[in-house]
Amino acid sequence: MPSSHSSFPLQNLPYGVFSPRAGGAPRVGVRIHDWVLDLSVVQARGFFDDHLPEGVFAQPALNAFMALGRPAWRAARGVITRLLEAGIPRLRDGALIPIDDVRMHLPAQIGDFTDFYASRQHAANVGRMFRGADNALLPNWMHLPVAYHARASSVIPAGVDVRRPRGQTLPDGAPPPVFGPSRQLDFELELGVFIGPGNPLGQPIPIHKAHEHIFGLVLLNDWSARDIQKWEYRPLGPFNAKNFATSISPWVVTLDALEPFRVPAPPQSPAPLPYLQHPDDWRLDIHLEVRLQSEGMAAPAVICRTNARHLYWTAAQMIAHHTITGCNLRPGDLLGTGTISGPTPDSYGSLLELAWRGEKPLQLPNGETRIFLHDGDRVTLTGWCQGEGYRVGFGEVSAKVLPPWGG
Ligand code: CA
Repeated sequence: MPSSHSSFPLQNLPYGVFSPRAGGAPRVGVRIHDWVLDLSVVQARGFFDDHLPEGVFAQPALNAFMALGRPAWRAARGVITRLLEAGIPRLRDGALIPIDDVRMHLPAQIGDFTDFYASRQHAANVGRMFRGADNALLPNWMHLPVAYHARASSVIPAGVDVRRPRGQTLPDGAPPPVFGPSRQLDFELELGVFIGPGNPLGQPIPIHKAHEHIFGLVLLNDWSARDIQKWEYRPLGPFNAKNFATSISPWVVTLDALEPFRVPAPPQSPAPLPYLQHPDDWRLDIHLEVRLQSEGMAAPAVICRTNARHLYWTAAQMIAHHTITGCNLRPGDLLGTGTISGPTPDSYGSLLELAWRGEKPLQLPNGETRIFLHDGDRVTLTGWCQGEGYRVGFGEVSAKVLPPWGG
């Protein structure tokens, strides 16, 4: 097995749901280099008998495994690590499948999807564009992780292309509104947090227990129609602008794999209310990149380089805030971080910011420019943690923009 420059070494072991191209039902696997270890086969051979309920990996979603919690996840990781370290011979006969011979699916059945707005730089950039520098951040932003309940049914796996939506907009800000294809289609670079065990209705998750409820992270592209959003969002927030597609990467990187990449951050100021306070060492040092390739480009160009450590609100704070009312999270629920933008213009996580609302069109290497996405553009998000001599990678989530239905 190749070991150099792999995003998926033994230190990673992310989970996903796949089906063999040769045939067979979707089931759970773990990625190791350019292979998928079929955990349904490993389980059928009895390797998890002491640790996991029967059949937990012979399912088309990770929800049942997610629900088990960290002790079970740690036990499974231990078994998988020992098997892979012991070498491949014990795993022959169909347990290891080349990555090119499988089709990836959504990792979980997502009951609910909530999208946050946790990057201060992103919130300030958008606020400055639409409200001016004096009102860049609304008064609530520094006190709570702002979010809205998003749409789970249109969360799609990597590789499924995205139709440009049609909708209602108010061109040039003057009535009457018109109907047609969005002319301001954008991507948003985010991370997705998959919930493990949930909480009963009425019982908030205290912040010091929030990490017990996080199964792992994926890359997330929250496709956005800015022109539709601008007209529809007052007073209840985005609706058609966001509900047509959200793409996620297929491999869920676990918190156990991310643990070495925790970094401290400056204390939040002003200090949040007590239910949102926790030791601030849960920023994650995840390098993130966005590539764009138009139909006229021979190769993709990197248009954004940033890092997840720029997020102001942590996943633990998102969970504590989400459930403080007693709202119940369930295994497989997905939380988006919101667009992750860094401090420099090349680290902004959306075209809206990279091209600054059209004032600074983005230059592509072949001479084309972009303010928003064109049909045929392919957007790819990628991410990784850099260890000493190894990487814990997220793989990528890539999709192409297709013309609206009906041409
Ligand atoms: Ca978003």
